[in-house]
Amino acid sequence: MILGSTLILAVRQTEVQTEYSLDVKRYPCNHSTLSVSIFPEENKSWWQPSYLNATLRGIAQWNDAIQEFASNHTEFSYLSRISLVPTITHENVSGFDIYIGWIGECGECETSIGQSQKIVNPFSVTIKNTIRLSAKAPSGHVMTEVDMQNIVVHELGHTFDLSHSTYSGDVMYFIVQYRETVKPLSSLDIYALSQNYEWMSNSNQFTSSNMYPQESSVTLPSRISYYHIPITAENLPSPTPQSFIEYTTELFLRPEILTTILSSVSLLVVAAIIIKNKKFQINP
Ligand SMILES: [Zn+2]
Repeated sequence: MILGSTLILAVRQTEVQTEYSLDVKRYPCNHSTLSVSIFPEENKSWWQPSYLNATLRGIAQWNDAIQEFASNHTEFSYLSRISLVPTITHENVSGFDIYIGWIGECGECETSIGQSQKIVNPFSVTIKNTIRLSAKAPSGHVMTEVDMQNIVVHELGHTFDLSHSTYSGDVMYFIVQYRETVKPLSSLDIYALSQNYEWMSNSNQFTSSNMYPQESSVTLPSRISYYHIPITAENLPSPTPQSFIEYTTELFLRPEILTTILSSVSLLVVAAIIIKNKKFQINP
């Protein structure tokens, strides 16, 4: 009976997995090295330096995930040519593929905490992407470092022409939940990217003959399972430093430390009893 239940569960999980899909809009860039301008708002009262770190890590997370997927699935090895190259700027400059900037709070939008816009030329090629990130949500929630990294990764997905995933565990799900941990990219995200940049599979140069249907829904082929791509330690935010009391409490509650303390106390009690008894024997 248990075996049957397990089997049914496994089948159901497989069925659910094959249903994960991701909408795409195919307006790729016509080159593979994408320059990213990051404009930190260091003079604004709401600015947090961690937002810049979160953005750089989000960019590195995409670069790493693309390389990992390209090496795991050799048919998509052409993806290894794609990279995001960030530059921190302190003035308005032109010539970048992607511009990332911040606003304190989005006054006009009701729920949005990140926006991505693109300019497409008559040949359906993206020539400019602009990402605007909010430091504070309309609900009043102030973005943490983890929130910011999750939003950056999501918005960069839009610059790669990924729309939204049907799976809530995917970073491209339409709702970005406030979490304690950074969300990994998935095989579905990078597979969708591979479809948008398929022109690179047989050419080093984009031509109008490489054009594809511009809006569609992507699901993983049966040979590729849905999986999350691990995030390297350097692309994760440092854990929040603990207070001395928290650290000490946690240390003393560790099973091995607690056992040692209890054993030592027991030994001391036994020793004290023996010494006391011996004193009585010497001086009856
Ligand atoms: Zn979105």
